Amino acid sequence: MKKARKYIFVVGGVISGVGKGITVSSIGKILQSRGLKVTAIKIDPYVNVDAGTMNPTEHGEVFVLDDGDECDQDMGNYERFLDVTLTRQNYMTTGRVYQSVINKERNLEYGGKCVQVVPHIPQEIIARIEKAGAKADADVVVIEIGGTVGEYENILFLETARMMKLHAKDDVMFVMVSYVPVPSNIGEMKTKPTQHAVRNLNSAGIQPDIIMARSVIPLDQKRKDKLALFCNVASEAVISAPDVESIYDVPVNFEKDRLGNLILKLLNLPHRGSNGRFSVWQRFAKKIKNYENGINIAIVGKYFDTGDFTLSDSYISVIEAVKYSAFHLKRRPKLTWLNSKDFSAKGGSASGGEAEKKLSELAKYDGIIVPGGFGGKGIEGKLKVIEYARTKKIPYLGLCYGMQLAVVEYARNVLKIKDANTAEIKPKGKHLVIDIIPEQKEKLKKKNYGGSMRLGSYKALLKEGSIAKRAYGGVRAINERHRHRYEVNPEYIKPLSDKGLVFSGVSPDGVLMEIAELSIKDHPFFLGTQFHPEFKARPLSPHPLFSEFMRAAIKRKGK
Ligand code: GLN
Repeated sequence: MKKARKYIFVVGGVISGVGKGITVSSIGKILQSRGLKVTAIKIDPYVNVDAGTMNPTEHGEVFVLDDGDECDQDMGNYERFLDVTLTRQNYMTTGRVYQSVINKERNLEYGGKCVQVVPHIPQEIIARIEKAGAKADADVVVIEIGGTVGEYENILFLETARMMKLHAKDDVMFVMVSYVPVPSNIGEMKTKPTQHAVRNLNSAGIQPDIIMARSVIPLDQKRKDKLALFCNVASEAVISAPDVESIYDVPVNFEKDRLGNLILKLLNLPHRGSNGRFSVWQRFAKKIKNYENGINIAIVGKYFDTGDFTLSDSYISVIEAVKYSAFHLKRRPKLTWLNSKDFSAKGGSASGGEAEKKLSELAKYDGIIVPGGFGGKGIEGKLKVIEYARTKKIPYLGLCYGMQLAVVEYARNVLKIKDANTAEIKPKGKHLVIDIIPEQKEKLKKKNYGGSMRLGSYKALLKEGSIAKRAYGGVRAINERHRHRYEVNPEYIKPLSDKGLVFSGVSPDGVLMEIAELSIKDHPFFLGTQFHPEFKARPLSPHPLFSEFMRAAIKRKGK
């Protein structure tokens, strides 16, 4: 018998940024610990076909899946909370949906019919949702519709959800994550914006089954009753979702409100307990609060500024990966974001003296990370930071661009090739230690930028006796996720190796350098990866390279 797959749509009310992604992840976690197979889908209302062409300060980090899909950072939250591997079926945008409908139309797949926004676009979305559910063989599919209710962009997705409910009443439910403000001049929690948001959702033909009331403080019974009455839901279905110290507490808090039981009931699923499965997560969420000893980690990047605000979202997977490894070692990291442009007068915003002073302040960190990036902005500053970390023996982890720039720095300052550079910054440079991957040349010539980098999971072989191999527990081969156009230029492998840079991870054909490190004799921890290990770090199984980096940082702190 075909199993009746269940679908939970999660929509946002009042304002964006209320934590729909964490809500989806938490609902998934709760149902998973009830023994159900869960998958999650993110729908972004943008016209971009994927997130790969968006600047991180616009849209946060671009997350990369095993299959190479460049998607929204929420996909990372789902993978981390659920400890599953998602595929491109689990992510869609307006652009992606329209693109495939248009392609089908061009291929005569609509049999001569007039192809219309409704029903053909919602039908395409339904087909994609069902495919993702089938591919994961899921009992429950949790679907996040991006944006907030009432905006123009996501109307077709709401229409899709309404149609799915119409066809399978018992198998589809709606959760609205809404914001309940406590204006400081009034000092009272106000439910009206949420009431309006629900009306708005009603006008799209959808009645929420559960309201998650996000607020700075927990909801009192009076507000719960009010929301229930005015929004047409049971009072037990108004869930209090106050701000919490840590996102890992969210599923735990939801379960305190018995959310799992409620969802099972609403989806007409037989009651089932968690059989101890949830306690693993509960223990994790609890014990990490006891860890002290801030290990000082600096993340030096350039995607931090958004108007007058600082955005750490651009590096969310890196931040999470650092935390998981620190927790694993019973420590708590203290993360500081540093803007690379402050470290160099050349191409940066600092004066020479200021930049020098900033650099010397790096001594107080126990570890430094230069994460992935693109383009020339802030590069000289990053190179200065890397040189400082290398010469002052501060544990250093370079991720993708952070590895490429470590190679450039090494070539400039150790091999004394003063104009060593990457082709990304100086395409016609004389000494390009980092050069474009040959097959990428054609793509760039044709301005084929979208989804065209070396993307997704590739294998690498580890070198005997290296730090990398030890960190990975002695395995011969690893699989890690990539997102890059440039690589270590094969011409420079020998000269760099002769001067002590160890290429400890290499593609199976021996062509691409995947990890560069310095011997433990020369530096306590100096390692860069061409891939992005952060995408595979999970709360309960931290990434071995981040853990090795954190061990070195803890050691430095202990000194
Ligand atoms: N810009 C570099 C490249 O394309 C590094 C990319 C990254 O850091 N993700 O190769």
